[in-house]
Amino acid sequence: MFRIGFGNDIHRLIEGTPLILGGVLIPSEIGAVGHSDADALLHAATDAILGALALGDIGTHFSDKEEKWKGADSIIFLNEAVKMMKEKGFEVVNIDSTISLEKPKLRPHIQAMRENLAKSLEIGIDFVSVKAKTGEKIDAVGESRAIKAEVIVLLQKAV
Ligand code: MG
Repeated sequence: MFRIGFGNDIHRLIEGTPLILGGVLIPSEIGAVGHSDADALLHAATDAILGALALGDIGTHFSDKEEKWKGADSIIFLNEAVKMMKEKGFEVVNIDSTISLEKPKLRPHIQAMRENLAKSLEIGIDFVSVKAKTGEKIDAVGESRAIKAEVIVLLQKAV
């Protein structure tokens, strides 16, 4: 049996805060604001897995009202979602994602993000896609006011 899941996330960008994506610290003058480490890619990936299993969303399990998640490494959220997935008897088939960010260019960091995702999802890197695009200078992404991530994931019942 297959199940499909979708997740998206958006964070505000400001100067002087770190930009972390897919667990990779990206050299950048502007970074994402959030309760945790504001890793939009990992948040969207977590939501995609939870969504595939109809287990609610990242806010259900890791509330931004909880002090313990302040500044948290978002790989914790993804790893917890993977644990829940395994308890339900599922495994990841593949994952595809798109990050929307005006600058900096993400190409030099894509491989490291794929490696982090592959490790957490316990799949080969060939089954992990991370794409990046700009906002064409329009709207919040294009004006460097926001970063957005969208993720789709396919799960199958583990044999
Ligand atoms: Mg988020």
